[in-house]
Amino acid sequence: MKSRWPAAFQVIDALERQGFEAVVVGGAVRDYLLDKRVKDYDVATSATPEEVKRVFTRTIDTGIAHGTVTVLMGQPVEVTTFRVETEYTDFRRPDTVQFVRNLKDDLARRDFTINAMALTKEDQLIDYYGGKVDLEQNVIRAVGEAEKRFSEDALRILRGIRFTSQLGFCIENQTDIAMKQCAALLTHIAKERVKQELDRIWTSANPEKALRYLRQEELNKALPGDWQVLPSLTKGFLTASLGWAWYHAFQPSRIDLPFSNVEKKLIQETNEVIERIHTYGWTYEAVFGFSKESVLVSHVVFSEASPFYTDEEVESWLTKAPLRSLIDLSVSGRELIEWSAAKQGPWIRTLQQQIAQQILQGHLENTQPAIKDWMKKNDTETTNF
Ligand code: ATP
Ligand code: MG
Repeated sequence: MKSRWPAAFQVIDALERQGFEAVVVGGAVRDYLLDKRVKDYDVATSATPEEVKRVFTRTIDTGIAHGTVTVLMGQPVEVTTFRVETEYTDFRRPDTVQFVRNLKDDLARRDFTINAMALTKEDQLIDYYGGKVDLEQNVIRAVGEAEKRFSEDALRILRGIRFTSQLGFCIENQTDIAMKQCAALLTHIAKERVKQELDRIWTSANPEKALRYLRQEELNKALPGDWQVLPSLTKGFLTASLGWAWYHAFQPSRIDLPFSNVEKKLIQETNEVIERIHTYGWTYEAVFGFSKESVLVSHVVFSEASPFYTDEEVESWLTKAPLRSLIDLSVSGRELIEWSAAKQGPWIRTLQQQIAQQILQGHLENTQPAIKDWMKKNDTETTNF
């Protein structure tokens, strides 16, 4: 670990020197064993937050109540005290956390076996719940009794489904049954947290893996919108907003989730592009003025009915457009005023749109002389050439 995660190594080393136990836990251990790039790692320790703060000079209280202190060790390292979660009265977050001195108990409260492993600073794996075997067999399995674990925190259901998409794993049978049994509890979970998990499905390698679970009656009923109407999806999206735009193309009405303004705009735009393509077909006219992203999503929505096979083909088609928006016109509004006798007014935009239409339909070249010529021929009264 010393050369791979030097900051984590130093933090663990310092805690051990003071007689505490400390290990890397959770996602980092899982991703390391999978040979995946590890973005951030969490250290768990037997030291209480106060004890952690006494060991290190530079710390930030990121989540003291939950036992988390960030240690600044060149890079920030999150250090969390071994803990168990006591009461769950509302099927979401625990009401209180209780610090414990024992790693095994801390690992027991984690959601899935593949997330319940720890690594010492000598890279020795600590695996009480069979995480390594499940990792090798590509299985998502709840730690302990699945139904109890999902009743404690129903968000775990979506986390598990999200991991199937990110890792390409399957859900173990008992865990799957429990997910369905507890699905209704998802309605108690904050919409922001639900959306966050769903966001990650769109950008995963294999969203179809998750969609197969989400289309099931029990889950579909517990989630906003209708997941059963979604067709199958062959790969993930570049961003979650693309995924949501695709999703909305199949929904009869807007979905009650906290979308960002960027997401709302793309959802709206994509709906318009799809309608225009229905009317004009896959023409430059249909997609004129719309973002590349909205056209890319439309391509996925049309699927086999799209004339393109890949995103790259769509992009390359777009780059060959004679015009993508009014800004690309070789004449400016100011020039149009100069060329004509008329005063500034809404007619400029109308004229620009007429010119764009001519160019898009291939009747006119996007050059100043050609446009000047066209204007002369079309409107000799109002222009003073
Ligand atoms: P990633 O960060 O790649 O999405 P992760 O497994 O690191 O995956 P985090 O949300 O960062 O996920 O959580 C870190 C660890 O905390 C998890 O690996 C798991 O052990 C535990 N954990 C997170 N959320 C829950 C939860 N709702 N219930 C139980 N344990 C959880
Ligand atoms: Mg993580």
